[in-house]
Amino acid sequence: MKKFSLLFVLIFSLPFFIAGCTGKSEEKYNTYTLSCEYDEISHTLDGTESVEFYNKYDNSLSELKFFLYPNSFDEGKEAVSTSYFERAYPSGEESYGNIEIESVKSGNENLTFNISDEGNILTVTLLKEIYPNEKVCVDIDFTVNLANINHRLGYGDNTVNFGNFYPILCVYENGFVENDFATNGDPFYSETANYDVTLTFGKDFVLASSGDVLSESESGENKVVEIEANKVRDFAFTLSTKFQKVSSVVGDMTVNYYYYDEDNFEENLKVACDAMTTFQELFSKYPYKTINVAKTNFCFGGMEYPNLVFISDDVADAETYKYVIVHELAHQWWYSLVGNNEYAEAWLDESLTEYSTALFFERNEQYGISYDDLVAGALRSYQLFISVYKDILGDVDESMNRNLDEFNTEPEYVNCVYTKGVLMFDSIRKTLGDNKFFKCLENYFDEYEYKIATGEDLIESFSKNAKTNLEGFFKAWLNGEVVLDN
Ligand SMILES: [Zn+2]
Repeated sequence: MKKFSLLFVLIFSLPFFIAGCTGKSEEKYNTYTLSCEYDEISHTLDGTESVEFYNKYDNSLSELKFFLYPNSFDEGKEAVSTSYFERAYPSGEESYGNIEIESVKSGNENLTFNISDEGNILTVTLLKEIYPNEKVCVDIDFTVNLANINHRLGYGDNTVNFGNFYPILCVYENGFVENDFATNGDPFYSETANYDVTLTFGKDFVLASSGDVLSESESGENKVVEIEANKVRDFAFTLSTKFQKVSSVVGDMTVNYYYYDEDNFEENLKVACDAMTTFQELFSKYPYKTINVAKTNFCFGGMEYPNLVFISDDVADAETYKYVIVHELAHQWWYSLVGNNEYAEAWLDESLTEYSTALFFERNEQYGISYDDLVAGALRSYQLFISVYKDILGDVDESMNRNLDEFNTEPEYVNCVYTKGVLMFDSIRKTLGDNKFFKCLENYFDEYEYKIATGEDLIESFSKNAKTNLEGFFKAWLNGEVVLDN
């Protein structure tokens, strides 16, 4: 995601103005077969989900756990922090949404399930233990009730967004990892999986989604679209009756830009193509056929999903809009292809993504944003944050490696994770030199593509490839020991 704190915008934007069980799991990926129908009158999504879970762990398992993000919009929950209310709720009033789990089955047998008090975790008790290398298939019937909110999940005036809308398996470490909801950042953590999806929705809507559309047909007043998304970390889509689309080809990949009410669409498509080209040169070939960039109702700058990014129509400034496109596309490498626990280690994808955005502008001088200005702007922004917060609070926790809900304020989260992240990677690059630094980035990507990396993994990978122990360096930044104030 891309968030801008007020401090960050003031300082950082200066340079802009100056300048079903189908058995596809041979590769041991879990498979989701989703069939969903959207009712635009009631704003509900009726879904069935068949999950084929492959036990690739050393332990036998008697239950599965799923994260239920739609419940973060339920009454009594804080879907956005107060400062975002106005941008989030198009009607000016809070609106609620949730997910109802109607049944969970394995074959014809009903399974016992339970939803945590917070509403975040669905626990399904299996009929029998599954041992290492065994598979189990679980069918979940659910209904998602959408809030009227400009968010990852919800309907606004222009788009209906379906991010994180279905029960998704929690990642198993020593037990399933149960992330909490959080208003700061993206509280998501999932594994690469295969998806077969059938979506049904009113025929006036245009769809932008993860994966590749296999077929599209009309049935009465509805459109029925079949989609395949293989080796992706999540599946998301957005619908709009207003979408127009422009496309371009980069290598063997199609880049689509979905937009409405806009004259800059050619320029925005161009920056998306340039970003995909640059990040392929820097990190690795993009392994999918399609990338979709969609303008949406969204209260933050943008949001990343595999093959699909949301760019907020609330970002009015044309340069900032392009910046957000680049940032969200960098997430295709950091979060999507190389996964991480975004709740526990947000810095791992956000710092790298924000730094990759600076690398894009360094390599694409035609956009008139200099790398040095971006780094200098990040330093000024961070120093201002420290001095203002020290004045107010007396002391500031400057560590980067905290759970999302351990950041006390949004400026603290944005400055410690995004802004300081740029400074940390700039510093390691200057320490190692360009050759070593870019080799480290490339090798880290290769090592963890489609997998999950931890902060320790990044430090170890960088140390190995730089042939220098970098633990002390990274830990000093991550623990907040590097002094950057005035
Ligand atoms: Zn981001």
